[in-house]
Amino acid sequence: MDTKDILRKAFDGERINEQECLQLLSYNDLLELGEVANEVRFRHNPYEVVTFVVDSNPNYTNVCNVDCTFCAFYRKKDDPDAYTYSIDELIKKFKESANRGITTILLQGGVNPDLPFEYYLELVEKTRKEVPEIHPHFFTTSEIIGMSEVSGLSIREVLIKLKEVGLNTIPGGGAEILSDRVRKKISKKKGPSSSWLDVMREAHLLGYKTTATMMFGHIETNEDIIIHLSSIRKLQDETKGFTAFIPWSFKPENTPLEKHIKTYSSPYRYLQIIAVSRIFLDNFPHIQASWFSEGKKIGQVALHFGADDFGGTLEEENVHAAANFINRSTKDEVIELIHGAGFDAAQRDTLYNILKVYHKKPVAQST
Ligand code: SF4
Repeated sequence: MDTKDILRKAFDGERINEQECLQLLSYNDLLELGEVANEVRFRHNPYEVVTFVVDSNPNYTNVCNVDCTFCAFYRKKDDPDAYTYSIDELIKKFKESANRGITTILLQGGVNPDLPFEYYLELVEKTRKEVPEIHPHFFTTSEIIGMSEVSGLSIREVLIKLKEVGLNTIPGGGAEILSDRVRKKISKKKGPSSSWLDVMREAHLLGYKTTATMMFGHIETNEDIIIHLSSIRKLQDETKGFTAFIPWSFKPENTPLEKHIKTYSSPYRYLQIIAVSRIFLDNFPHIQASWFSEGKKIGQVALHFGADDFGGTLEEENVHAAANFINRSTKDEVIELIHGAGFDAAQRDTLYNILKVYHKKPVAQST
């Protein structure tokens, strides 16, 4: 089919298939792609509003035994800079964050086999009890699989127990590219794509809401990206448990994978991925643009290529920082950036409920 016909199909609200999506990924008229994605975005989220969450992204441990080749963050337990926070240290940190107005803690860590399952349960329980202002958005699928291994419980049992103590959302990290060809090369010990999908499926069936992520710009091909997008779209058809899709580009510095990367991902590619994912993932309520991972200007532009959410304010971040990629902002600046892109800004919670709207100033009319 001609690419223009595929875009018309999407514009008319019809679902496009994998082959058609592949064609869009190599279409060279980015502006036309963006225009259709923007139309689809307003169909899902009809208001001139872009949401954001006031959050922080600390890490409870950097000790990990999974050895992903794209990761600059993890350490072996005997490394001099290996660390694991105690529960009391984390609760103290969360209280300080709450005092600064933070509403979501996105907490991830390495897969540390020395931590018993009770550590995670106690952490969630204490967060809910002692810092009720904070929504715990804790633990990727890799850590949940780690908890299952350390406790001898099934994934389902682990998720049930975490839910009993107060966890009800899970971040989408650990997906990278859900193509077994790629996973075998960059994260062999994480197992096949189905392991990420199976944890997400169980979580959704138990009533958790989660996000889905994708880290691109390394060894993947367009075909691998289609496998990824198709897998999460199918799961979403089944469970409706994903709130948002969050793509970001690989940051190679200090990672073992760095030497195998010939070219870095470009802003063009990021906007293309945002637009194509908005068109293809017709069952995802939100697509998240990132001022953090792609830069503030590109984050703003992505809001016109299909994204309707600007992610978090990210008070603390260590994973990208380990790859020498540091970008900082504040709540005020995030609001300003959204206004600057032409939208009202709305602070949301982890579940995308609107907490407060910050209207942009009306543009003065010339007479
Ligand atoms: S990405 Fe996560 S699982 Fe992989 S090595 Fe880094 S910390 Fe460990």
